[in-house]
Amino acid sequence: MDLSNSHLLDDAVVCTKVDAVINWGRQSSLWPFVFGTACCAIEFMATAASRYDISRFGAEVLRFSPRHADLLVVAGTVSYKQAPILKQIYDQMPEPKWVVAVGACASTGGFYDNYTTLQGIDEIVPVDVYVAGCPPRPEGILDAVVQIQKQLWREPTLKLRDHSGFKGKLDE
Ligand code: SF4
Repeated sequence: MDLSNSHLLDDAVVCTKVDAVINWGRQSSLWPFVFGTACCAIEFMATAASRYDISRFGAEVLRFSPRHADLLVVAGTVSYKQAPILKQIYDQMPEPKWVVAVGACASTGGFYDNYTTLQGIDEIVPVDVYVAGCPPRPEGILDAVVQIQKQLWREPTLKLRDHSGFKGKLDE
């Protein structure tokens, strides 16, 4: 092969960065674990179904094992009794992982300002994106996926995500 022709490899070689390649893959293949406890979970079902079609964003491979997932979607009211279960699921997810709080209940407890209801999942796990609404529309959930994609695009892949600034109520 005559390599003296400098244009020979123009269409065959792409120069890029490791972060760009890995984040491109991550961005296009988020695997959600849905912790759905109430009405907002129905909105997520609509988001995943054909009309809104979350697979357009590469996030349709819903997992029912936290060990297979990298996107924790909490959709619904979370009681104090459920809080340790949610925390355990979060802990079982491998890094890197991201968390979305869908709706008023997951974000703040919603109108359940009472002795049984966790006043926002960020009391126990770090949240990356909050989705407003009671319930939010599927477009809001899709927007959260896009926000996560934008966020992870900026993250270095060879370092663990830094959660050291977060200390939840169930952390020792
Ligand atoms: S935010 Fe509203 S729609 Fe969502 S779980 Fe709470 S009460 Fe239901």
